[in-house]
Amino acid sequence: MSRRRCVGCGRIAPKSELVRMAVTDQRSASEGRADSRRAVLDRTGTMPGRGAYLCRGVAPGEPVADCLALATRRGGIARALRCAVRIDPELVESVSR
Ligand SMILES: [Zn+2]
Repeated sequence: MSRRRCVGCGRIAPKSELVRMAVTDQRSASEGRADSRRAVLDRTGTMPGRGAYLCRGVAPGEPVADCLALATRRGGIARALRCAVRIDPELVESVSR
């Protein structure tokens, strides 16, 4: 079974215990800038390109809020994805509650 490291806390776990994040060029409705690459949850695990993994939280398909916060603060997601990205604000919102 393939294992990945959480870019937040550094825990190594099977993929089934992690959620994948990938880069999208898609802009959300509220923004129109072309340079707005965002890291979003790859719920189906099929988005192309590099992935960043986070521990899976209690809610299905959502990361642990602490791991997401750590990864955001330390730049772990951008490092794993090899490009400057913003974390999808809707995602941060949804897991921080
Ligand atoms: Zn973690």
